[in-house]
Amino acid sequence: IRVCVRACVCVYIHRFLVRPQVSGELDDCHCDALLQTDYFRFYKVNLNKPCPFWTSGSHCGLRDCTVKPCSPNEVPEGIRTEARNKVTLKYCHLDKCEKSEALGAVDVSLSDETREALKNWTKHDDEAQRFCLLDDEWCPDSQYVDLLLNPERFTGYKGPEAWKIWTSIYEENCFKPFTVKRPLSPLYSSGRSEGQCVEKRAFYRLISGLHASISIHLSARYLLSDEWFEKRWGPNVSEFRSRFDSELTQGEGPKRLRNLYFLFLIELRALVKALPVVKEGSFKLFTGQPQEDCRNKERLLDLLHTARSFPLHFNETSLFAGDETEAAKLKEDVRLAFMNISRIMDCVECFKCRLWGKLQTQGLGTALKILFSELPSSPPSSRLTLNRQELVALVNAIGRISTSIKELQNFRELLAEDT
Ligand code: FAD
Repeated sequence: IRVCVRACVCVYIHRFLVRPQVSGELDDCHCDALLQTDYFRFYKVNLNKPCPFWTSGSHCGLRDCTVKPCSPNEVPEGIRTEARNKVTLKYCHLDKCEKSEALGAVDVSLSDETREALKNWTKHDDEAQRFCLLDDEWCPDSQYVDLLLNPERFTGYKGPEAWKIWTSIYEENCFKPFTVKRPLSPLYSSGRSEGQCVEKRAFYRLISGLHASISIHLSARYLLSDEWFEKRWGPNVSEFRSRFDSELTQGEGPKRLRNLYFLFLIELRALVKALPVVKEGSFKLFTGQPQEDCRNKERLLDLLHTARSFPLHFNETSLFAGDETEAAKLKEDVRLAFMNISRIMDCVECFKCRLWGKLQTQGLGTALKILFSELPSSPPSSRLTLNRQELVALVNAIGRISTSIKELQNFRELLAEDT
């Protein structure tokens, strides 16, 4: 992991700061070891939430969009009970604390009144800091999914339905043009959306980076042949070119790739800022297997230390600066816009795309929460906390970007062979 993160950052520095004009030279960026552990591979998600913005048609019905949820005994006992205990712990802060045994089965056994109170408590708890909606872990519709068995790849989801999602994300819910308030640093300026304030422009770049990452993955793990006995997945160079080649995209492709690196830097910075929280003795990656849990914590700390040791860091204090009232309002606008993006993910009709879309927006939302939840004037009581869902999403999200960067290198080599 150390090598992986170091390589990604070195490539970034080399590409954009040392040799700004050159096309990408990227290195191997796999963060596999951590992502293959039980703690990070099982993700609890509700894929059955209705779309809150429009009546969506039926589900897309494509075979490669299917997601296979885990049966309960596939998920380590420790992970399942930890989620239940969290509910118990929170609930016990309420005046009317009931027996914890009853709370283990909170979704079925509590009175309506108690359940409502619990919901309110959960909401009140830390929602104000969130940039992203989290699925209720205790909701009966939420299920564990093994991410390794449901990889992100080409699904065939495309056309008006997919465009409607992207259009809503870019145009309808946020990032409409705003007056420029401050001059833009080159780090923030790439892509469309001229005339926006620096923060909205930065957030446009994050979404565009995420879009680019999804496009790279579907091009890198494309369905190359579909015989009755076997499916073959691999890189599709023409698909990649159609999305990123400068000529074929009127110059937009390279900008989108730059946005991918921007997203990487933001998530890397969030990892660095998460270090004090993870370092705390009480912070556990609990699966119920003590040796494995210890090893995972060491691996995670190793990753965070490596991220910290880099000289180049995104400086989050340059955003939401200036007049405090105005900055707070702007931050709230952006936070709500991001909330909407996580809601839009419930409108994605392809379940596999919805799964990875939710995971990656949640990862990015967590990164933003880490970077912006504490203002200098925040009281100590509002200190950053992270739950399992957020951590799993964040580490998987950075793993996705790292893999995209590695795939880019592979495409460069394939393109060089072609010419
Ligand atoms: P799209 O990718 O749909 O893009 C639409 C338009 O947006 C483009 O014409 C371009 O003008 C603009 N655009 C494209 N890229 C960027 C960028 N990086 N920055 C700014 N603007 C851009 N398909 C899969 O096969 N596997 C998946 O896992 C998958 N996950 C998805 C997850 C989500 C949340 C969504 C909404 C879609 C997902 N899709 C997935 C579908 C995929 O993203 C494309 O929509 C689809 O492949 C059709 O591509 P397209 O060439 O029509 O352009």
